Amino acid sequence: MENNNSPEKVNCLIIGSGPAGYTAAIYAARANMNPVLYQGIQPGGQLTITTEVENYPGYPDGVQGPEMMLQFERQATRMGADIRYGIVTKVDLSSHPFKVEVDENNWLQVNALIISTGASAKWLGLPSEQRLNGQGVSACAVCDGFFFKGKEVAIVGAGDTAAEEALYLSKICSKVHMIIRRDEMRASKIMQDRVINKHNIIIYWNTETEEVIGENKVEAVRIIHNKTGEKTNIPVSAFFVAIGHKPNAEIFTGWLDMDDAGYIKTIPGTSKTNIEGVFAAGDVQDKIYRQAVTAAGSGCMAALDAERFLSEKGFH
Ligand code: NDP
Repeated sequence: MENNNSPEKVNCLIIGSGPAGYTAAIYAARANMNPVLYQGIQPGGQLTITTEVENYPGYPDGVQGPEMMLQFERQATRMGADIRYGIVTKVDLSSHPFKVEVDENNWLQVNALIISTGASAKWLGLPSEQRLNGQGVSACAVCDGFFFKGKEVAIVGAGDTAAEEALYLSKICSKVHMIIRRDEMRASKIMQDRVINKHNIIIYWNTETEEVIGENKVEAVRIIHNKTGEKTNIPVSAFFVAIGHKPNAEIFTGWLDMDDAGYIKTIPGTSKTNIEGVFAAGDVQDKIYRQAVTAAGSGCMAALDAERFLSEKGFH
């Protein structure tokens, strides 16, 4: 509900506080765009639930994910970005300036909108998976596979992500046990062929995960054949979940063009959406790369696109 006070005017609003949002904030602040960033439900985004990050350039000794995000925030604040705790609950993009509701009661009037709300990994929902998250259970092989170099690992899922991650792991780990719940894979044919023909990927068809075993680290995974009921313990050092992601874009449904999985569509090579003045960056519009560094890069693109838009419209 719109309150009676006149809405606060925001020149550049950034929604989301992962690498894309903070990078957009750094660029927008340095370009005198007076950005306001709302952090959302999980300040710092997905990196705050990971442990060590070794693949972000500039950190030769690695960095803890939560620490890295605090540094992103500090840098954005130092540049002058207005970082706020709050959740965007509704938008009205029918006319410019856009109307954006925060925390269900506070409406803003926004000249340029950058959406960097990210995506969330889907989990199986097992208590053991949750308990060992970050201690061998991971939803990102590219982030965490390296920590299990030369070890046996398991991965669950059968889409393109699972296939890609299984192949990635097969180059680092001695064996990859791939747990697939049906008797076929959803992944594209070429990816299926690669996985099936890889000597150190062992596929378990019609199989589901019953439990991830281990006290303070993953030691094994217990799987169950969903036709015969036969249970098997596979000793592994890590358990990767690759059953899909969910983009955090529900509130934009009906306003912005999205693909079948709900990712916001951007014009290739830009961060522009189908609405002029609305830009998307990071995982909310990227289901393929999903890396901190690619998200940061696209956050930079969004700020530059927004800056151009604002100058063209005379909002500077
Ligand atoms: P998908 O939704 O395509 O696949 C999810 C997989 O996880 C399916 O095999 C599904 O099984 C399985 N799964 C879901 N829930 C469970 C569960 N509870 N237990 C066991 N298995 C489960 O997600 P992806 O992330 O793989 O891909 C998303 C999109 O991104 C796709 O369109 C994909 O093509 C695309 N993509 C493209 C890439 C590229 O072009 N390089 C790389 C990565 C992704 P089931 O099949 O039985 O439903």
